[in-house]
Amino acid sequence: MTEQILAQRYLFSIEAIVFSLLSLWLWLYYRGYGRQYVKFWTFSLIALACTYASLALQDRTLVWSSTPLFQLILLTIEQIGKYSFLFLLLGGVHCAVSHIGFSNKRVLSFIFFAFLLSLLTLIAFLLDDVSLFNRFYINVSLQNFIFGCFFLFLSLYLLTSKKHHFSNVTLMIFSLVIGLRYLLYSFASILFMGEKSFSELSYFLTFFDAGSHTVLAFIMLIWMQSSERYTAINAVRRAQYLGKHDSLTGTLNREQALEKLEAEMPKALKTKQQLCICLIDMKRFKFVNDTYGLKTGDYILGEIANRLTDSVLMPKVVGRLSGDSFLFVIEIKSQQQLDNSLEHIHQLIARPYEYNDQSIIISCSIGYCFYPDHADIAEDLLQKANLALHHAENNHLASVLFAEGMHTQEKKLIAVEQEIKNAFVHNELILYFQPQLNLITNRLEGVEALVRWQHPEKGLLAPDQFLADIESLGLNNRLDNYVLEKACQAIANWHEKYKRRVTVAINISAIEFQNPKLITNIQSLLFKYNIPPKYIDLEITENVVMTDINTAMDTIVILQNMGIKVSIDDFGTGYSSLAYLRKLPIDKIKIDRSFITEVAINDSDLTIVKSMIELSHGLGKRVLAEGVENAEQLNLLRNIGCDAVQGYLISRPVTAEAIDHFLKRK
Ligand code: C2E
Ligand code: CA
Ligand code: CA
Repeated sequence: MTEQILAQRYLFSIEAIVFSLLSLWLWLYYRGYGRQYVKFWTFSLIALACTYASLALQDRTLVWSSTPLFQLILLTIEQIGKYSFLFLLLGGVHCAVSHIGFSNKRVLSFIFFAFLLSLLTLIAFLLDDVSLFNRFYINVSLQNFIFGCFFLFLSLYLLTSKKHHFSNVTLMIFSLVIGLRYLLYSFASILFMGEKSFSELSYFLTFFDAGSHTVLAFIMLIWMQSSERYTAINAVRRAQYLGKHDSLTGTLNREQALEKLEAEMPKALKTKQQLCICLIDMKRFKFVNDTYGLKTGDYILGEIANRLTDSVLMPKVVGRLSGDSFLFVIEIKSQQQLDNSLEHIHQLIARPYEYNDQSIIISCSIGYCFYPDHADIAEDLLQKANLALHHAENNHLASVLFAEGMHTQEKKLIAVEQEIKNAFVHNELILYFQPQLNLITNRLEGVEALVRWQHPEKGLLAPDQFLADIESLGLNNRLDNYVLEKACQAIANWHEKYKRRVTVAINISAIEFQNPKLITNIQSLLFKYNIPPKYIDLEITENVVMTDINTAMDTIVILQNMGIKVSIDDFGTGYSSLAYLRKLPIDKIKIDRSFITEVAINDSDLTIVKSMIELSHGLGKRVLAEGVENAEQLNLLRNIGCDAVQGYLISRPVTAEAIDHFLKRK
């Protein structure tokens, strides 16, 4: 018997040392990688080491009633150690499997529960010092039952977890075996207590347990190693992927897209196919970001990338070059196929994007060129497609093919850009005003503000000499706001001078009319210069209305409600019809000069102008005729019921000071 006890002591001591060393190893590992499950397992092994140390020091021959304090402490450590080991093991496995950590509070409550369980067992058999049987049941049968249930639960938990890798499965089988061992032993302890075979089994099991605990510790180590290797491989893969792909949309980035295009070029040459290199740029994407937030913007970009990649056109290359522009390369066999493909891309992009209960619609511009027709280097092809794209954007065209002239145009634009920007800063852009005469009252109806550029070298420039450049540079908004402010200043000045306010008609470009800030801009100007809204008359063209009739309608309604007037400029030249305009709450229709020029000599023009006036009046709109240059035209227009006229006959556009004599004359 004493021999057996001695053997056990040796074993327990060795185990205590082994687990201490293993826990030290795990601790170092935890220090390096900071994984919470490793921390759990480290402490579970420390608990195990404490258990074995206390077992090694315990004197098994002592009778319970005469247990000295030291032995009692050892017993307590053993109990706490066992349960803590169990809880920490489970906590660690849960962390490792689910990758979810526990808060410190949770961990503390675990440890507290382990303490409670061990103390309860301890108190239960310390209080009952007579019944050896009860003590045995509590210390052996019950404890083994708890342990058995625990390991079977662990096994089941691992079985139901999603990922199954080697260490996972090993631990699952291990827990099953150990769980059954504890449960069976628990039952055996009740049935065969006191029998010789049972004490032999118990003796054997102390070795079995020591062995199984060692195996468990090694399973932990293997788990840790393979999990970290897996994480490392993943990290490397992700880094490689990100190096090649755009992290937001998962498509190729600029560099890789160019590389891929370069690789596709010789293949196309071999098969005598043409590649169409499309550069797709989203329109007003900044507006989407500003209005719906960056998250929505990111979602839409990702969705665009998916739509392009999965497109039936089977693109050779899809890549995101920057912010909201994509490279899309397809093989082209015929003009018909090209047209269909471009149409298809526009449709793909225009399909609504559903995000957070919002349905967002965007459109795109496409600039494209061909390989091998336009260049034989990927970089050059991209540059040419880019020039075509600029052209498409500046001229509000859906798709534009690269053409040779675009180069020089682009260069000229770069040169003029700084000049124009300086013009804004140095107030070189000035307003001229052209009077509008009311034919019914024969009085001044208002003036139209027309911009001029007082160029430091070239002298006074008319709008047709610089407006196109301003538009190409995307400075329309700036110009319109500049003119709005100058016009308001003029109204305020005239009021100060003559105690009389004059309505100023201001030309608003299509882009500015779609600007959501237009209304607030005007409001703040009216407030700043103390001008009643009815003195502002915004001139927009039919095309502005037709591009996006719903938005235009909303804006016009808001402006009308504010008291600001809206007129349709150059009427008759665009592609709208009066039927459309009927729905719009506009004040005035300005018949384009081209109809007026020959109105006195050409019968068909007279008929057109007549019917325009009749129809407009039928819809409750006033009519102004532009470009009236002689008395004949004026009389004719007066006779057919025109409400107002504007033209050289009344006055050319003049400076603000020159308007004075109209105001004095009333
Ligand atoms: P528009 O709005 O149709 O302006 C009328 C144009 O016709 C003005 O040319 C004016 O000088 C000219 N005009 C007026 N009466 C007569 C006439 O009896 N005979 C002839 N032959 N021409 C006449 P302008 O000032 O050169 O402006 C050209 C265009 O530039 C304007 O056409 C307008 O579309 C644009 N524009 C001018 N100023 C501005 C501005 O401040 N902002 C914006 N966005 N566009 C402007
Ligand atoms: Ca105008
Ligand atoms: Ca006009």
